[in-house]
Amino acid sequence: MTARIIDGKAVARKLRAEYAERIADLKSTHGIQPGIAVILVGDNPASQVYVRNKILACKDTGIHSELHKLPADTPEETLLAEIDALNANPAVHGILVQLPLPPHIEVAKVLEHIAPDKDVDGFHLYNVGGLITGNTVFPPCTPYGVQKLLEHEQVEISGRNVVVVGASNIVGKPMALMLMQKDATVAICHKMTRDLAQFTSLADILVVAAGVPGLIRADMVREGVVVIDVGINRLPDGRIVGDVDFEGVSQKASLISPVPGGVGPMTITMLLHNTIVSAERGLAAQGRAKQG
Ligand code: NAD
Repeated sequence: MTARIIDGKAVARKLRAEYAERIADLKSTHGIQPGIAVILVGDNPASQVYVRNKILACKDTGIHSELHKLPADTPEETLLAEIDALNANPAVHGILVQLPLPPHIEVAKVLEHIAPDKDVDGFHLYNVGGLITGNTVFPPCTPYGVQKLLEHEQVEISGRNVVVVGASNIVGKPMALMLMQKDATVAICHKMTRDLAQFTSLADILVVAAGVPGLIRADMVREGVVVIDVGINRLPDGRIVGDVDFEGVSQKASLISPVPGGVGPMTITMLLHNTIVSAERGLAAQGRAKQG
């Protein structure tokens, strides 16, 4: 079997075109433009690239975006005060604090400070807790992007064996919960898992987010598996690869996402989606307040 390759760029493009229409409708019908504030503390080069891409994607889709750049030595209280102001600003529907933060700032405290209904990254405990009960308001963007890719490719999830390799708070764990919510049987593997292949070979759907190039080889998967590679690794020769041996595994898989061009374009797309949802929820709340 040779796998069909998922075109994440095309799926992201299609979704962004739909979102642009939703935004245009919000503007013309209700005079509301969804808005996001991105806070960047310090000058981490990778963070600067991520933030620039997010801001560009917002512009392209019609979302108002504002960048709040703070120096690396910004005291924690100053950052919290900045978040307070954005929480109170009705033109801002989403607040994103780019991670990592400088070591003198407590990440959990900062994330908890963002109003849950503006937490478009989905990292506030309220939204994380909602993943357990299946009613999170803002699913975290990368696993949400994977879910959308699976939906777009019409991959049946209910009753299937899903193996998630990687158990981070931002990708692996929420991914597992989101697919469990869709009635998959889910196993989560991590770096202490003994005999990874024993698990991966049971997968109907394999999601890999470990950050280890070549971690998943063809002999570790079953014929016909659906493989989603979340990993992004830069090799010494400059190439960007995922965690899956694409050449080998695509000979056995039925469907596979490449790196680059698979999950990557979906992550920012889901940030756009969450920001629009936040603006729409704000509008619905206003309507309820007027009625009441
Ligand atoms: P992380 O370092 O926080 O977590 C990695 C997880 O993988 C851990 O749970 C660890 O136990 C597990 N792991 C590490 N080595 C392993 C091994 N040999 N076998 C099994 N499990 C192993 O990383 P993260 O933030 O979750 O990101 C994971 C990967 O996904 C990275 O390559 C990252 O760049 C990429 N990523 C991509 C996107 C995107 O938009 N496509 C977004 C976020 C992260």
